[in-house]
Amino acid sequence: MAVLPIYNCYHPVLKKKTNPVTEFNQELKDFVNNLYETMYEADGVGLAANQVGESKSIIVVDTSEASEAKDSHSPIVMINPVIINYSDEIIEYQEGCLSIPKFYEDVDRPKEIEVRYFDIDMKELSITADYLFSRVIQHEVDHLNGILFYERLSSVRRVLAKSKLRKIEKGDYATFYPMILPNGTYRDPAE
Ligand code: ZN
Repeated sequence: MAVLPIYNCYHPVLKKKTNPVTEFNQELKDFVNNLYETMYEADGVGLAANQVGESKSIIVVDTSEASEAKDSHSPIVMINPVIINYSDEIIEYQEGCLSIPKFYEDVDRPKEIEVRYFDIDMKELSITADYLFSRVIQHEVDHLNGILFYERLSSVRRVLAKSKLRKIEKGDYATFYPMILPNGTYRDPAE
């Protein structure tokens, strides 16, 4: 297993839609293990494949450490996930992103979703997800579609966030995990 560097949100790989996975093999399993390891090393609760530079439709999520039982779900990999239903009820909650260092904002999202996906053995499944588990899946599926969470902010909040986002684009904020900057340069973790 290996910890992979995480790409800054302004790198082009995070701006484009990922490709569906067509081959379920050992290489895929190895890659998914690296995704998990990278997520845990960076203290994340979710990670999309394009956040490590691979334009593939794969996410990993682990909310098992969440403080409230309703938010908690054991580690799960979703391959080619599609959200097929959204609840009418919308809730606001603060989000962050491993590709957007030191940036935390409240985002409105549907409380509950139904998602269809393939597991690592190419079995097609669908589940309903609620609260934090639902939110993390929505955030990660957005990544697969080239959408960053600051694009979900209200226009007022986005204007207020502009100068901070410009600093993030320039790589002004250090991370404790390795990062690939928007121009493709590798930066070692900060002490
Ligand atoms: Zn993210």
